[in-house]
Amino acid sequence: MIMNSTIFEVLQTYNYEQLVFCQEKTLGLQAMIAIHDTTLGPAAGGVRMLPYASEQEAIDDVLRLARGMTYKGAAAGVNLGGGKCVVRADPEREKSEALFRALGRFIQRLGGLYIAGEDVGTNAHDMEMIGLETPHVFSLPVEEEVSHFTAFGIMQGIHACLQNVYGSAEMQGRTITVQGVGTVGSRVVRDLLEEGAVVTVTDTNQEKLERLVAAYPALTTCPPEEIHTRPVDIHCPCALGAVLNERTIPELHCKIVCGAANNQLADEHCGDRLAQTGILYAPDYLVNAGGMIAYADSRHPEGLVRQRALAQVTRIYDTLQRVFALAREEAIPTYRAADRLAEQRIASVRQAKTLATAP
Ligand code: NAD
Repeated sequence: MIMNSTIFEVLQTYNYEQLVFCQEKTLGLQAMIAIHDTTLGPAAGGVRMLPYASEQEAIDDVLRLARGMTYKGAAAGVNLGGGKCVVRADPEREKSEALFRALGRFIQRLGGLYIAGEDVGTNAHDMEMIGLETPHVFSLPVEEEVSHFTAFGIMQGIHACLQNVYGSAEMQGRTITVQGVGTVGSRVVRDLLEEGAVVTVTDTNQEKLERLVAAYPALTTCPPEEIHTRPVDIHCPCALGAVLNERTIPELHCKIVCGAANNQLADEHCGDRLAQTGILYAPDYLVNAGGMIAYADSRHPEGLVRQRALAQVTRIYDTLQRVFALAREEAIPTYRAADRLAEQRIASVRQAKTLATAP
Protein backbone atom coordinates (compact mmCIF):
# COMPACT_ATOMS: atom_id res chain seq x y z
CA MET A 1 0.00 0.00 0.00
CA ILE A 2 1.19 3.51 -0.70
CA MET A 3 2.22 4.99 2.66
CA ASN A 4 -0.59 6.93 4.40
CA SER A 5 -3.02 6.48 1.50
CA THR A 6 -6.67 5.54 1.88
CA ILE A 7 -7.98 2.48 0.06
CA PHE A 8 -9.76 4.65 -2.51
CA GLU A 9 -6.59 6.65 -3.15
CA VAL A 10 -4.76 3.41 -3.93
CA LEU A 11 -7.64 2.18 -6.14
CA GLN A 12 -7.48 5.47 -8.05
CA THR A 13 -3.69 5.61 -8.36
CA TYR A 14 -3.46 2.18 -9.96
CA ASN A 15 -6.86 2.17 -11.68
CA TYR A 16 -8.49 -0.76 -9.90
CA GLU A 17 -12.04 -1.55 -10.94
CA GLN A 18 -13.36 -3.23 -7.82
CA LEU A 19 -12.41 -4.50 -4.37
CA VAL A 20 -14.93 -6.86 -2.82
CA PHE A 21 -15.01 -7.87 0.85
CA CYS A 22 -16.66 -11.21 1.59
CA GLN A 23 -17.55 -12.48 5.07
CA GLU A 24 -19.53 -15.37 6.51
CA LYS A 25 -19.58 -15.15 10.27
CA THR A 26 -20.51 -18.71 11.21
CA LEU A 27 -17.79 -20.15 8.96
CA GLY A 28 -15.26 -17.50 9.93
CA LEU A 29 -14.78 -16.69 6.25
CA GLN A 30 -12.96 -13.43 5.58
CA ALA A 31 -11.96 -13.01 1.96
CA MET A 32 -11.25 -10.20 -0.47
CA ILE A 33 -11.49 -10.25 -4.23
CA ALA A 34 -9.69 -7.53 -6.17
CA ILE A 35 -10.48 -6.90 -9.80
CA HIS A 36 -7.81 -4.73 -11.33
CA ASP A 37 -8.56 -4.48 -15.04
CA THR A 38 -10.95 -6.39 -17.29
CA THR A 39 -10.10 -4.71 -20.60
CA LEU A 40 -8.64 -7.92 -22.01
CA GLY A 41 -11.20 -10.27 -20.49
CA PRO A 42 -12.50 -11.56 -17.15
CA ALA A 43 -10.13 -11.04 -14.24
CA ALA A 44 -8.16 -14.22 -13.68
CA GLY A 45 -6.24 -14.92 -10.52
CA GLY A 46 -5.56 -17.50 -7.89
CA VAL A 47 -7.15 -17.89 -4.48
CA ARG A 48 -4.40 -17.35 -1.91
CA MET A 49 -5.06 -18.67 1.59
CA LEU A 50 -2.76 -17.37 4.29
CA PRO A 51 -3.12 -16.49 7.99
CA TYR A 52 -2.44 -12.80 7.27
CA ALA A 53 -1.36 -11.03 10.46
CA SER A 54 -3.59 -8.05 9.72
CA GLU A 55 -6.42 -6.89 7.49
CA GLN A 56 -4.06 -4.32 5.96
CA GLU A 57 -1.55 -6.99 5.00
CA ALA A 58 -4.30 -8.98 3.23
CA ILE A 59 -5.57 -5.88 1.39
CA ASP A 60 -2.04 -4.97 0.27
CA ASP A 61 -1.46 -8.49 -0.99
CA VAL A 62 -4.73 -8.83 -2.92
CA LEU A 63 -4.27 -5.45 -4.60
CA ARG A 64 -0.63 -5.98 -5.52
CA LEU A 65 -1.26 -9.48 -6.86
CA ALA A 66 -4.37 -8.52 -8.87
CA ARG A 67 -2.46 -5.77 -10.66
CA GLY A 68 0.37 -8.19 -11.38
CA MET A 69 -2.12 -10.53 -13.02
CA THR A 70 -3.28 -7.77 -15.38
CA TYR A 71 0.29 -7.28 -16.59
CA LYS A 72 0.90 -11.01 -16.78
CA GLY A 73 -2.15 -11.61 -19.00
CA ALA A 74 -1.33 -8.61 -21.17
CA ALA A 75 2.31 -9.62 -21.70
CA ALA A 76 1.37 -13.25 -22.32
CA GLY A 77 -1.05 -12.26 -25.07
CA VAL A 78 -4.09 -13.97 -23.50
CA ASN A 79 -7.60 -12.60 -23.27
CA LEU A 80 -7.70 -12.42 -19.50
CA GLY A 81 -7.64 -9.47 -17.15
CA GLY A 82 -6.15 -9.30 -13.68
CA GLY A 83 -7.72 -10.28 -10.38
CA LYS A 84 -6.93 -12.07 -7.17
CA CYS A 85 -8.65 -13.47 -4.12
CA VAL A 86 -7.15 -13.75 -0.65
CA VAL A 87 -8.65 -15.70 2.22
CA ARG A 88 -7.52 -14.88 5.74
CA ALA A 89 -7.14 -18.39 7.11
CA ASP A 90 -4.54 -21.01 7.92
CA PRO A 91 -4.54 -23.57 5.08
CA GLU A 92 -3.20 -26.25 7.46
CA ARG A 93 -6.11 -25.98 9.92
CA GLU A 94 -9.02 -23.98 8.56
CA LYS A 95 -9.96 -25.50 5.20
CA SER A 96 -13.44 -26.96 4.86
CA GLU A 97 -15.95 -27.74 2.15
CA ALA A 98 -18.35 -25.18 3.62
CA LEU A 99 -15.75 -22.41 3.52
CA PHE A 100 -14.83 -23.01 -0.13
CA ARG A 101 -18.48 -23.38 -1.14
CA ALA A 102 -19.29 -20.07 0.57
CA LEU A 103 -16.40 -18.47 -1.31
CA GLY A 104 -17.72 -20.06 -4.49
CA ARG A 105 -21.08 -18.36 -3.94
CA PHE A 106 -19.38 -14.99 -3.56
CA ILE A 107 -17.48 -15.61 -6.80
CA GLN A 108 -20.73 -16.62 -8.50
CA ARG A 109 -22.29 -13.29 -7.48
CA LEU A 110 -19.64 -11.51 -9.56
CA GLY A 111 -21.21 -13.13 -12.60
CA GLY A 112 -17.97 -14.20 -14.32
CA LEU A 113 -16.05 -10.97 -13.82
CA TYR A 114 -13.54 -12.94 -11.74
CA ILE A 115 -12.31 -16.49 -12.46
CA ALA A 116 -10.59 -18.33 -9.62
CA GLY A 117 -7.60 -20.63 -9.77
CA GLU A 118 -5.08 -22.32 -7.46
CA ASP A 119 -2.48 -20.31 -5.60
CA VAL A 120 -0.37 -20.45 -2.45
CA GLY A 121 -2.37 -22.35 0.18
CA THR A 122 -4.99 -23.78 -2.20
CA ASN A 123 -5.05 -26.77 -4.56
CA ALA A 124 -7.10 -28.48 -7.26
CA HIS A 125 -9.34 -30.14 -4.66
CA ASP A 126 -10.24 -26.74 -3.16
CA MET A 127 -11.10 -25.50 -6.67
CA GLU A 128 -13.43 -28.48 -7.10
CA MET A 129 -15.35 -27.36 -4.02
CA ILE A 130 -15.56 -23.78 -5.27
CA GLY A 131 -16.73 -25.30 -8.56
CA LEU A 132 -19.74 -26.85 -6.79
CA GLU A 133 -21.15 -23.32 -6.48
CA THR A 134 -19.87 -21.53 -9.58
CA PRO A 135 -18.59 -22.31 -13.08
CA HIS A 136 -16.19 -19.37 -12.76
CA VAL A 137 -13.19 -21.42 -11.68
CA PHE A 138 -10.34 -22.73 -13.80
CA SER A 139 -9.83 -26.44 -13.92
CA LEU A 140 -7.37 -28.45 -15.97
CA PRO A 141 -7.79 -32.14 -16.86
CA VAL A 142 -6.67 -34.40 -13.97
CA GLU A 143 -3.55 -35.51 -15.82
CA GLU A 144 -2.35 -31.91 -16.23
CA GLU A 145 -0.65 -29.73 -13.63
CA VAL A 146 -0.50 -25.99 -14.00
CA SER A 147 3.07 -25.93 -12.62
CA HIS A 148 4.23 -27.97 -15.62
CA PHE A 149 3.32 -25.06 -17.92
CA THR A 150 4.84 -22.52 -15.53
CA ALA A 151 8.14 -24.43 -15.35
CA PHE A 152 8.23 -24.79 -19.13
CA GLY A 153 7.87 -21.00 -19.39
CA ILE A 154 10.73 -20.45 -16.94
CA MET A 155 12.94 -22.60 -19.17
CA GLN A 156 12.00 -20.41 -22.19
CA GLY A 157 12.94 -17.37 -20.13
CA ILE A 158 16.31 -18.82 -19.09
CA HIS A 159 17.13 -19.67 -22.70
CA ALA A 160 16.28 -16.13 -23.81
CA CYS A 161 18.47 -14.67 -21.04
CA LEU A 162 21.42 -16.92 -21.94
CA GLN A 163 21.09 -15.93 -25.58
CA ASN A 164 21.12 -12.30 -24.59
CA VAL A 165 24.07 -12.43 -22.23
CA TYR A 166 26.28 -15.10 -23.82
CA GLY A 167 25.11 -15.09 -27.44
CA SER A 168 23.99 -18.73 -27.10
CA ALA A 169 21.01 -20.37 -25.39
CA GLU A 170 23.08 -23.52 -24.75
CA MET A 171 22.59 -24.72 -21.16
CA GLN A 172 25.38 -27.31 -21.00
CA GLY A 173 27.78 -26.41 -18.18
CA ARG A 174 25.93 -23.26 -17.13
CA THR A 175 25.79 -22.76 -13.36
CA ILE A 176 22.48 -21.92 -11.69
CA THR A 177 21.06 -21.53 -8.20
CA VAL A 178 17.40 -22.43 -7.60
CA GLN A 179 15.80 -20.87 -4.53
CA GLY A 180 12.83 -23.03 -3.50
CA VAL A 181 12.18 -26.50 -4.84
CA GLY A 182 8.41 -26.67 -4.51
CA THR A 183 6.07 -27.58 -7.34
CA VAL A 184 7.61 -25.24 -9.91
CA GLY A 185 11.21 -25.14 -8.66
CA SER A 186 11.59 -28.94 -8.61
CA ARG A 187 10.35 -29.19 -12.21
CA VAL A 188 12.73 -26.47 -13.33
CA VAL A 189 15.60 -28.30 -11.60
CA ARG A 190 14.77 -31.51 -13.43
CA ASP A 191 14.67 -29.73 -16.80
CA LEU A 192 17.92 -27.86 -16.10
CA LEU A 193 19.74 -31.07 -15.22
CA GLU A 194 18.41 -32.74 -18.37
CA GLU A 195 19.95 -29.92 -20.39
CA GLY A 196 23.32 -30.27 -18.66
CA ALA A 197 23.27 -27.33 -16.23
CA VAL A 198 25.20 -27.42 -12.95
CA VAL A 199 22.55 -26.79 -10.32
CA THR A 200 22.68 -25.69 -6.67
CA VAL A 201 19.40 -25.79 -4.76
CA THR A 202 17.98 -24.68 -1.46
CA ASP A 203 14.69 -24.82 0.41
CA THR A 204 13.58 -23.98 3.92
CA ASN A 205 11.79 -27.33 3.93
CA GLN A 206 14.67 -29.72 4.62
CA GLU A 207 12.61 -32.82 3.89
CA LYS A 208 11.67 -31.58 0.41
CA LEU A 209 15.27 -30.71 -0.29
CA GLU A 210 16.57 -34.10 0.78
CA ARG A 211 13.96 -35.89 -1.33
CA LEU A 212 15.02 -33.95 -4.43
CA VAL A 213 18.73 -34.52 -3.83
CA ALA A 214 18.06 -38.25 -3.35
CA ALA A 215 16.33 -38.28 -6.75
CA TYR A 216 19.04 -36.18 -8.44
CA PRO A 217 22.44 -36.81 -6.80
CA ALA A 218 24.14 -34.37 -9.20
CA LEU A 219 22.58 -31.49 -7.23
CA THR A 220 24.50 -29.54 -4.64
CA THR A 221 22.78 -27.67 -1.82
CA CYS A 222 23.42 -24.53 0.16
CA PRO A 223 21.73 -22.77 3.11
CA PRO A 224 18.66 -20.68 2.16
CA GLU A 225 20.24 -17.43 3.37
CA GLU A 226 23.26 -17.90 1.07
CA ILE A 227 21.68 -19.04 -2.19
CA HIS A 228 21.56 -15.60 -3.82
CA THR A 229 25.22 -14.86 -3.01
CA ARG A 230 26.71 -17.70 -5.05
CA PRO A 231 28.80 -16.81 -8.11
CA VAL A 232 26.73 -18.36 -10.91
CA ASP A 233 25.48 -17.64 -14.40
CA ILE A 234 21.82 -17.65 -13.36
CA HIS A 235 19.94 -17.16 -10.11
CA CYS A 236 16.42 -18.60 -10.25
CA PRO A 237 14.05 -17.48 -7.46
CA CYS A 238 11.20 -20.00 -7.13
CA ALA A 239 10.04 -19.37 -3.56
CA LEU A 240 8.76 -16.08 -2.21
CA GLY A 241 8.35 -12.49 -3.38
CA ALA A 242 10.51 -9.46 -2.50
CA VAL A 243 13.73 -11.51 -2.64
CA LEU A 244 15.41 -8.78 -4.73
CA ASN A 245 15.71 -6.07 -2.12
CA GLU A 246 18.08 -3.50 -0.65
CA ARG A 247 19.94 -6.17 1.30
CA THR A 248 20.18 -8.92 -1.33
CA ILE A 249 20.91 -6.93 -4.51
CA PRO A 250 24.45 -5.90 -3.44
CA GLU A 251 25.09 -9.55 -2.51
CA LEU A 252 24.19 -11.01 -5.92
CA HIS A 253 27.04 -12.53 -7.93
CA CYS A 254 25.15 -13.77 -10.97
CA LYS A 255 24.77 -12.54 -14.55
CA ILE A 256 21.05 -13.30 -14.84
CA VAL A 257 18.01 -13.42 -12.54
CA CYS A 258 15.17 -15.46 -14.01
CA GLY A 259 12.68 -17.39 -11.91
CA ALA A 260 9.06 -18.22 -11.09
CA ALA A 261 8.43 -16.32 -7.87
CA ASN A 262 5.85 -13.54 -8.16
CA ASN A 263 6.83 -9.96 -7.25
CA GLN A 264 10.55 -10.67 -6.89
CA LEU A 265 11.44 -6.98 -6.78
CA ALA A 266 10.72 -5.51 -3.36
CA ASP A 267 9.79 -2.25 -5.11
CA GLU A 268 10.50 -0.22 -8.25
CA HIS A 269 13.55 1.38 -6.70
CA CYS A 270 15.05 -2.11 -6.33
CA GLY A 271 14.29 -2.77 -10.00
CA ASP A 272 16.29 0.33 -10.91
CA ARG A 273 19.12 -0.68 -8.59
CA LEU A 274 19.28 -4.17 -10.03
CA ALA A 275 19.50 -2.71 -13.55
CA GLN A 276 22.42 -0.51 -12.46
CA THR A 277 24.39 -3.61 -11.40
CA GLY A 278 24.32 -4.85 -15.00
CA ILE A 279 22.60 -8.11 -14.00
CA LEU A 280 19.98 -9.09 -16.58
CA TYR A 281 16.57 -9.38 -14.92
CA ALA A 282 13.79 -11.37 -16.61
CA PRO A 283 10.56 -9.71 -15.40
CA ASP A 284 8.83 -12.29 -13.24
CA TYR A 285 5.28 -11.94 -14.53
CA LEU A 286 6.51 -12.37 -18.06
CA VAL A 287 8.41 -15.62 -17.53
CA ASN A 288 6.01 -17.22 -15.04
CA ALA A 289 2.93 -16.80 -17.27
CA GLY A 290 2.88 -20.45 -18.41
CA GLY A 291 0.17 -21.40 -15.93
CA MET A 292 -2.02 -18.47 -16.92
CA ILE A 293 -1.59 -19.42 -20.59
CA ALA A 294 -2.73 -22.96 -19.79
CA TYR A 295 -5.76 -21.60 -17.92
CA ALA A 296 -6.59 -19.32 -20.85
CA ASP A 297 -6.30 -22.28 -23.22
CA SER A 298 -8.69 -24.30 -21.06
CA ARG A 299 -11.42 -21.76 -21.86
CA HIS A 300 -11.63 -23.00 -25.46
CA PRO A 301 -14.87 -24.94 -26.00
CA GLU A 302 -12.87 -28.19 -26.37
CA GLY A 303 -10.88 -27.51 -23.19
CA LEU A 304 -7.11 -27.48 -22.75
CA VAL A 305 -5.05 -28.77 -25.67
CA ARG A 306 -1.61 -29.36 -24.20
CA GLN A 307 0.42 -28.85 -27.40
CA ARG A 308 -1.42 -25.66 -28.29
CA ALA A 309 -0.84 -24.24 -24.80
CA LEU A 310 2.84 -25.24 -24.78
CA ALA A 311 3.29 -23.64 -28.21
CA GLN A 312 1.99 -20.38 -26.77
CA VAL A 313 4.26 -20.73 -23.73
CA THR A 314 7.30 -21.01 -26.02
CA ARG A 315 6.51 -17.47 -27.20
CA ILE A 316 7.73 -16.22 -23.81
CA TYR A 317 11.19 -16.53 -25.39
CA ASP A 318 10.35 -14.00 -28.14
CA THR A 319 8.47 -11.65 -25.83
CA LEU A 320 11.45 -11.54 -23.51
CA GLN A 321 13.78 -10.76 -26.41
CA ARG A 322 11.49 -7.89 -27.39
CA VAL A 323 11.59 -6.60 -23.81
CA PHE A 324 15.39 -6.78 -23.71
CA ALA A 325 15.63 -4.97 -27.05
CA LEU A 326 13.25 -2.22 -25.86
CA ALA A 327 15.18 -1.86 -22.60
CA ARG A 328 18.42 -1.44 -24.56
CA GLU A 329 16.95 1.01 -27.08
CA GLU A 330 15.32 3.20 -24.45
CA ALA A 331 18.02 2.72 -21.80
CA ILE A 332 15.42 1.63 -19.24
CA PRO A 333 15.36 -1.32 -16.79
CA THR A 334 13.83 -4.51 -18.17
CA TYR A 335 10.95 -4.42 -15.68
CA ARG A 336 9.91 -1.03 -17.04
CA ALA A 337 10.19 -2.27 -20.63
CA ALA A 338 7.91 -5.23 -19.79
CA ASP A 339 5.38 -2.89 -18.17
CA ARG A 340 5.39 -0.76 -21.31
CA LEU A 341 4.67 -3.70 -23.60
CA ALA A 342 1.84 -4.85 -21.34
CA GLU A 343 0.36 -1.33 -21.05
CA GLN A 344 0.55 -0.84 -24.83
CA ARG A 345 -1.44 -4.03 -25.42
CA ILE A 346 -4.12 -3.03 -22.90
CA ALA A 347 -4.36 0.46 -24.41
CA SER A 348 -4.68 -0.88 -27.96
CA VAL A 349 -7.37 -3.41 -26.99
CA ARG A 350 -9.23 -0.67 -25.08
CA GLN A 351 -9.08 1.47 -28.22
CA ALA A 352 -10.34 -1.41 -30.37
CA LYS A 353 -13.26 -1.93 -27.98
CA THR A 354 -14.13 1.77 -28.10
CA LEU A 355 -14.25 1.55 -31.89
CA ALA A 356 -16.37 -1.59 -31.72
CA THR A 357 -19.02 0.17 -29.62
CA ALA A 358 -18.94 3.46 -31.57
CA PRO A 359 -22.21 4.21 -33.42
P1 NAD B 1 5.46 -24.05 -3.61
O1 NAD B 1 4.83 -23.59 -2.35
O2 NAD B 1 5.15 -25.41 -4.14
O3 NAD B 1 7.05 -23.95 -3.49
C1 NAD B 1 7.72 -22.90 -2.85
C2 NAD B 1 8.92 -23.53 -2.15
O4 NAD B 1 9.74 -22.49 -1.61
C3 NAD B 1 8.53 -24.43 -0.98
O5 NAD B 1 9.17 -25.68 -1.12
C4 NAD B 1 9.03 -23.66 0.25
O6 NAD B 1 9.44 -24.52 1.29
C5 NAD B 1 10.19 -22.90 -0.35
N1 NAD B 1 10.59 -21.72 0.41
C6 NAD B 1 9.81 -20.84 1.10
N2 NAD B 1 10.57 -19.87 1.64
C7 NAD B 1 11.83 -20.12 1.23
C8 NAD B 1 13.07 -19.45 1.43
N3 NAD B 1 13.15 -18.33 2.17
N4 NAD B 1 14.17 -19.96 0.88
C9 NAD B 1 14.12 -21.10 0.16
N5 NAD B 1 12.98 -21.78 -0.08
C10 NAD B 1 11.86 -21.28 0.46
O7 NAD B 1 5.10 -22.93 -4.69
P2 NAD B 1 5.18 -23.05 -6.27
O8 NAD B 1 3.83 -23.34 -6.80
O9 NAD B 1 6.34 -23.90 -6.66
O10 NAD B 1 5.47 -21.52 -6.65
C11 NAD B 1 6.75 -20.95 -6.44
C12 NAD B 1 6.68 -19.45 -6.74
O11 NAD B 1 6.28 -19.28 -8.10
C13 NAD B 1 5.66 -18.67 -5.91
O12 NAD B 1 6.14 -17.38 -5.69
C14 NAD B 1 4.44 -18.60 -6.81
O13 NAD B 1 3.64 -17.46 -6.51
C15 NAD B 1 5.09 -18.47 -8.17
N6 NAD B 1 4.26 -18.94 -9.28
C16 NAD B 1 3.81 -20.23 -9.29
C17 NAD B 1 3.03 -20.67 -10.35
C18 NAD B 1 2.53 -22.10 -10.42
O14 NAD B 1 2.13 -22.55 -11.51
N7 NAD B 1 2.55 -22.85 -9.32
C19 NAD B 1 2.71 -19.79 -11.40
C20 NAD B 1 3.20 -18.49 -11.39
C21 NAD B 1 3.99 -18.08 -10.30
